Amino acid sequence: MKTEILGIDGASLDRAAELLTEGQVVAVPTETVYGLAANAFDEKAVRRIFEAKGRPADNPLIVHIADVSELERLSPEVPELAYECAERFWPGPLTMILPKADIIPSVTSGGLDTVGIRMPADKTARAVIKRCGFPLAAPSANLSGSPSPTAYRHVYEDMNGRVSAIIDGGDCSVGVESTVISFDGDKIRILRPGFVSPDDLSEVAETIVDKGVLEQLSPDAVVRSPGMKYKHYAPKADVTIIDSDRDSFISYVRKNADEATMLLVFSEADCKGLDIGFVKYGDTSEEQARRLFTALRTLDELGAEKVYARCPEKSGVGLAVYNRLLRAAGFKAVKL
Ligand code: AMP
Ligand code: MG
Repeated sequence: MKTEILGIDGASLDRAAELLTEGQVVAVPTETVYGLAANAFDEKAVRRIFEAKGRPADNPLIVHIADVSELERLSPEVPELAYECAERFWPGPLTMILPKADIIPSVTSGGLDTVGIRMPADKTARAVIKRCGFPLAAPSANLSGSPSPTAYRHVYEDMNGRVSAIIDGGDCSVGVESTVISFDGDKIRILRPGFVSPDDLSEVAETIVDKGVLEQLSPDAVVRSPGMKYKHYAPKADVTIIDSDRDSFISYVRKNADEATMLLVFSEADCKGLDIGFVKYGDTSEEQARRLFTALRTLDELGAEKVYARCPEKSGVGLAVYNRLLRAAGFKAVKL
């Protein structure tokens, strides 16, 4: 398949909407990560997303809208709390799981009777949805199992030849996927942490972080967010998180590193006195969120076989970074 490369000008977005209306798949930038979009109401179009990604059919897609008023069409039961969250966090990186309306084919929701809905903040994404007049189902635009794409180049590497078009919208400003929440009565449950943090959500209602966020679920566990059970965000290298302060990190690396080892660090200061290749991903949680997936891809490009990673904060936006890095590490963490 020939993949058209589109810009973010009006004519390009018209072309993207035209392809989407024909039932084709188009990669679209959002503020979180690039999405692989198709008409959420068109079963055949949505199947094309699963094929392009190689995604397991029971892993549901998030449905993207451009206006809060769309909620009523997509869900028969929108709780008041959902409107409060929409008011506070939309447009933005928050996905809400709600009961699914029949208009959404079950292939879109991975066979579940619920649907994840989000209104992205990214102007290009919203402009495309508006032009289409239908919501866009869009998972991250990576091949299933590889790190989510946060730059045009990543999408091109994974999807050129597999989708009808890619919109080049530059780098994503948030860099980790949306916070996914469901509603437990009057409580909010975080199924996947993201840029909208537990503290942010607590301002709206009591907020619980689901067990699956930080623990490896056993194969027979009840999985509330199917994406969490898959090996995800994985680089080729064997990653271990070193949960320690800087000095202990440096001495651990000095003792355990071999020729195949590289480091994933916040800044140069974490490698002081070490003669080992490293990739930096920033000193603040926001910067780490923005740079983590690029850093994981860079480690692969550099041929890293074994990676020791400094451990992100486990609160605020850091919780999202930690959650993704834990999965990249296959839950291998050493606490010193
Ligand atoms: P992606 O768009 O690739 O980041 O994946 C979307 C993720 O959102 C899925 O892997 C699920 O974990 C979560 N999700 C989407 N829809 C639902 C749903 N109806 N119920 C629970 N989790 C969902
Ligand atoms: Mg994904």
